[in-house]
Amino acid sequence: MTSVDKRKIADFLDLAGDFLGSGYKREPINYQFDDNIPAKVEIPQIKNEYIDSIELVAKEIRDCKNCSLCEKRTNAVPGEGVSEPLVMVIGEGPGEEEDKQGRPFVGKAGMLLDKMLDAIGLSRNTNAFIANVIKCRPPLNRDPHPEETSACSRFLERQITLLNPKFILVAGKVAANTLFKTDESISKHRAKIMELTAGNKTYPLICTYHPAALLRSDDYKRPAWEDLKLLKSKLDTMR
Ligand code: URA
Repeated sequence: MTSVDKRKIADFLDLAGDFLGSGYKREPINYQFDDNIPAKVEIPQIKNEYIDSIELVAKEIRDCKNCSLCEKRTNAVPGEGVSEPLVMVIGEGPGEEEDKQGRPFVGKAGMLLDKMLDAIGLSRNTNAFIANVIKCRPPLNRDPHPEETSACSRFLERQITLLNPKFILVAGKVAANTLFKTDESISKHRAKIMELTAGNKTYPLICTYHPAALLRSDDYKRPAWEDLKLLKSKLDTMR
C-alpha cells in the first residue's frame, strides 16, 4: 500500500469519525505517511539452539529408558553437588538407599565418603559434585553389565564437560575400569595422577578404594588416606 492509499483511508476514517462523533466536519488532521517503510517487518527469529545444562542431563537421566535397569529402579540417581566443583567424585552406581532417595552416596558408604571428603576440605554442599558411572541400581547391587555402563556413558561425559571440575576422584574398581575400559584391580590405578578426556578437555584424576571396601576391611584405610592426601596436595597447588 502506498502513502497515497494510506492517506485516503486515513482521511475517510477521520471524516467518518467527525460525523459519527460530533455530527460535523472538524479541521482535517494532516496525516503523514512514508513510502520508505519496509513492506515486510523482519521479526527477529529466536534460534532454537540446544543449550545443555546439568539440570537437563539430570532430567534425561530420570526419564531414561536406554537399558533394562530402568524397569526395576525406584529412582534414577543423576548425582548432586555444586555447579562448578573443585572435585567431581565418580562412584560405581546407586545402591538400595540411593535408589530409594534418588541421591548418590546416601547409605553407609556415602556417610563414610562424606567424612573422607570432609577430611580434605571437600563437601557436596560447597565444592564437590558426586556422580556415578551408572545411574540406576543394578539388581541386588551386582556389578553393572557393559551394555548398561555404555548406555550411561554419554550422561557421565556430559556431566563432566558441564561441571568442568578441577580434579576427578574415582571411587572403586568398577568406576575406574569403566572409565579406563580396563579390567584391573584398583591397586593398578590408585596412588598416582591419571588423566581422563571428556569432550575436548583432559582432567586430572586420582583413583582410590571405594568407601564400601573400607567398611569391609581396615586394610584399605591407610592406602585410601594416602590417595586423599595426594589429592589434597594437588588441590592445594591449584587454590
Ligand atoms: N556406591 C556407589 O558407588 N555409589 C553410590 O551412589 C552409592 C554407593
